[in-house]
Amino acid sequence: MKRIKIKELFIANPVGTKVCIKGWVRTKRISKQVVFIMLNDGSTIHNLQIVTEPEKFAEDIMQHIATGVSLSVCGTVIASQGGNQAIELQADTIEILGTATDYPLQPKKHSLEFLREIAHLRFRTNTFSAVFRIRHAISYAIHQFFHEQGFVYLHTPIITAVDAEGAGEMFSVTTLNMEQLPKTPQGQVDFKRDFFGQKTSLTVSGQLEAEAAALGLAEVYTFGPTFRAENSNTTRHLAEFWMVEPEMAFYDLADNIALAERFLKYVIGFALEHCKDDLEFLQKRELDARVGKQTDKSFLPLLDRLDNILTYPFACISYTEAIDILKASQPNKEKKFAYPIDEWGCDLQSEHERYLVEKHFTKPVIITNYPRAIKAFYMHQQEDGKTVAAMDILFPGIGEIIGGSQREERLDKLTEAIQSMGMNSNILQWYLDTRLFGTVPHSGFGLGLERLVQFVTGMDNIRDVIPFPRTPGNAAF
Ligand code: ATP
Ligand code: MG
Ligand code: MG
Ligand code: MG
Repeated sequence: MKRIKIKELFIANPVGTKVCIKGWVRTKRISKQVVFIMLNDGSTIHNLQIVTEPEKFAEDIMQHIATGVSLSVCGTVIASQGGNQAIELQADTIEILGTATDYPLQPKKHSLEFLREIAHLRFRTNTFSAVFRIRHAISYAIHQFFHEQGFVYLHTPIITAVDAEGAGEMFSVTTLNMEQLPKTPQGQVDFKRDFFGQKTSLTVSGQLEAEAAALGLAEVYTFGPTFRAENSNTTRHLAEFWMVEPEMAFYDLADNIALAERFLKYVIGFALEHCKDDLEFLQKRELDARVGKQTDKSFLPLLDRLDNILTYPFACISYTEAIDILKASQPNKEKKFAYPIDEWGCDLQSEHERYLVEKHFTKPVIITNYPRAIKAFYMHQQEDGKTVAAMDILFPGIGEIIGGSQREERLDKLTEAIQSMGMNSNILQWYLDTRLFGTVPHSGFGLGLERLVQFVTGMDNIRDVIPFPRTPGNAAF
């Protein structure tokens, strides 16, 4: 008999037909000669209830059925007497596929910290299966959005000799084959030049390569893993994360901002439409966790937070306006920032970003025209000589979700920026070539996939929205 997934079964509601289901036991309950087994197969947040009489099967089968055990069950779909679902499965045959002795996931609420320690098993929980189905839907929607707009999906390299951000947060690449390593003049192995004699790292961004492609294909995007040697322990930073980076020829900063806002609304709208059950589950989980805790008057349930993104236009202010707002907020002692805003030119800390988004505007905020000195070398320099055509998009509860800019298309300005920041222009010669031949105004941005998934799922810690998080001290699984 053909296997059917639980999600499809609930949609088809085929009462009276025979089906086979394969999945993992969440709970087993025996009452008055009836056994109830809740089975989940990963296709939906909802479990299928299996009903049977204990005598119908050999005792050792019944004994072994416990939380975590994998089963194949065939039987007849019947209308449910009670419970949460319209249907359940009256079992004819039950086969144990895999037993689970001392299974660490018991049918009680485990802390997210505990589940992080067993990241390889947390896919079997309701919370994480919901999160990773939503992560999938978001990734799919990202490709769909750009495909519909006529963008070309570009695969950019992971191994690179270029520090695209100029921030020195790179991991170097080393070969373990000593034979292949070059030697220093003293005859020692030169670990610094270990990519067949060249110094290389894991990419921090595919932007520069995507720019080169955009100056030929016009509209492209990369979507892949990026790496940053961030030795910080925040709930927003990973050493390995996935970034979506569109680059567009003939777009100025305003076009770039308009695309980014449309893009975020599209992807969040897609999740709302296609992940309703998972989002409702996560919303309830979040609301349950707040019971009995101090209430924050501005708190909105998850689905309302997502709906609001679709409903209201984002706020858009310049860096200078942001500084004025932050300065004006300081006289109030209660609201004093740990890093006071003294003068124009300082970088915004996450407390400032959160104040603007969560207290002042209470919606996403786009900040434009940052001081040149605090932004990367490739941003378009403006007439005032002080600012660049940059934009950051800040989200409630998250902070920076997107960083982007109009790129510097003028060869002389770009060369000067590279030199003034003390970067190696030899390695960037290919990049400068794109400005030497047929340069055009162009723009792009980078979105951290995990921060978007955090926003959509309401998960507090970035480690809980990537299957196997890579953070300092965490590379085992
Ligand atoms: P932050 O200020 O939060 O450190 P950033 O300005 O260094 O971020 P960008 O270089 O602008 O980051 O990268 C583009 C986007 O990639 C960010 O807006 C964010 O969504 C995401 N991002 C950056 N660093 C990380 C990280 N370490 N872990 C997860 N996502 C990240
Ligand atoms: Mg950073
Ligand atoms: Mg930043
Ligand atoms: Mg940034």
